[in-house]
Amino acid sequence: MSPQRGGRRRVLVTAGPTRERIDPVRYLSNDSSGVMGFAIAEAARAAGHEVILVAGPVDLATPKGVRRVNVESAREMLSAAREAFSECDALFMTAAVCDFRPVRRLSGKWRKKDDGQERASLELVSNPDILASITRRKGGRLVVGFALETGDGLRRAKRKLEKKRMDYVVLNGPLALNASRTSVTILGRDGSQRRLTDRTKRAVAKELVGLLSPDAGR
Ligand code: C5P
Repeated sequence: MSPQRGGRRRVLVTAGPTRERIDPVRYLSNDSSGVMGFAIAEAARAAGHEVILVAGPVDLATPKGVRRVNVESAREMLSAAREAFSECDALFMTAAVCDFRPVRRLSGKWRKKDDGQERASLELVSNPDILASITRRKGGRLVVGFALETGDGLRRAKRKLEKKRMDYVVLNGPLALNASRTSVTILGRDGSQRRLTDRTKRAVAKELVGLLSPDAGR
């Protein structure tokens, strides 16, 4: 990370779900509200950093002073995030990216039921892994990702930390979705492990933004 004057950094935050279109009126998505990512963007701005927020479809106001880029699908998020990452010193990858998208996006309504069919299947193809893709050129940037796991996800989260070249991974559970409070474990590449229990997402955001300080140690 190139230290800038007064410790001010350029920070990229991704937030919210992605939406993968089936047809003009239907899509696949998930329950992500975007609250965590928006809280990080707000906290980073409040700490004096310059912030670019790449947001999936969410119903949240843009934090004051933050540059927001709206996207819908994972592929749109990849291209917006890749472009922004090239001019940033840090990335908080909070978005809940859909793992799969329909192979085809229909131009008209999906009409399987008109044939009287009781069952229908939708062919899916995997989406690009945005984090793994853009951290191929990570350099000295600080990269923080999230892992939402059911049960004891420590091992899986650690594996993701390595595979996606993160400096820290924030492990949380499904209760974090659409909630204002959360409990997380922050795992560092250096083996560090910090548990924050039943905090507001704002409080967690402030802790995470603290990782940008030169004395946070990486
Ligand atoms: O979905 P998964 O648990 O692997 O997500 C871990 C991290 O990878 C999260 O920070 C998420 O934003 C990111 N991710 C991504 N592109 C995907 C799936 C996940 O950047 N297609």
